[in-house]
Amino acid sequence: MGESDEYLVTIAKYGTRSTTRSDVYLNYHLYKQPDDAIGMDYFVWVLRNAERTIVVDTGFSRHGGEVRGRRMLADMAGLFTRLGADPASAPTVVVTHAHYDHIGNLGLFTESPIVLSKREYDFWTGDHARHVLFHHSVEDDEIAQLSRIAAEGRIDFFSGRREVAPGVEVIEVGGHTPGQSVVRVATSDGPVLLASDAVHYYEEYESAMPFSSVADLVAMYAGFDTIRGMINSGDVRHLVAGHDPSTLGRFTPAEGDLVDVAATIGTAPAGARP
Ligand SMILES: [Zn+2]
Repeated sequence: MGESDEYLVTIAKYGTRSTTRSDVYLNYHLYKQPDDAIGMDYFVWVLRNAERTIVVDTGFSRHGGEVRGRRMLADMAGLFTRLGADPASAPTVVVTHAHYDHIGNLGLFTESPIVLSKREYDFWTGDHARHVLFHHSVEDDEIAQLSRIAAEGRIDFFSGRREVAPGVEVIEVGGHTPGQSVVRVATSDGPVLLASDAVHYYEEYESAMPFSSVADLVAMYAGFDTIRGMINSGDVRHLVAGHDPSTLGRFTPAEGDLVDVAATIGTAPAGARP
């Protein structure tokens, strides 16, 4: 793999909340462990090298966060710009799934090509999405916006897996949502897997404790196995969980005013924009 196919991965925290273990782990009582408080952080991810900038998910909107009691820590347009992914520069946006905390700021990216699983799109624009257990995780106007973007021809739909750019592959695993996808990225420090909500917490993956919000439980367990296989084979060196408060501390703190907000993996290849 050439150097130009490697990326600087930036993980940026933009929101947070406090909840309980019995709220986040499905049928938690079955583990016979005491309940306890647990935090949940919210992230977006940016991949950059000399040739391109790719945004992975866009976070929740102010409204989507407020109605669910989530604390927003950043102005999102400003955050993306500080991360080197100014929405006006039309970076490609990979959407790992259509929950409110992943597509809430797609409206900032008015010119960007969007990469999304066809199965995910079909589910949220289809009949079953109206049911409470699914619907509580989306905003109707955000799904409608996704439909408008599709009508504009701006969504690059995929099934299974898709190379978004050299060194960046999106892989559909399902489970959490019908088309939940993970993103594998080449870096100077080895391949990184942005697990998004295929793995909210490291414990969820390490102890095979599925998250409470799930579309297909068998697929969710299979997703853990798929990820374990990728790590064991060396296809993945760094696993980045989607909502774990320990995530930022596991990687290199970003510099300057982003020090408490973001962490990075890999070095920016020569010629990458600062
Ligand atoms: Zn989700």
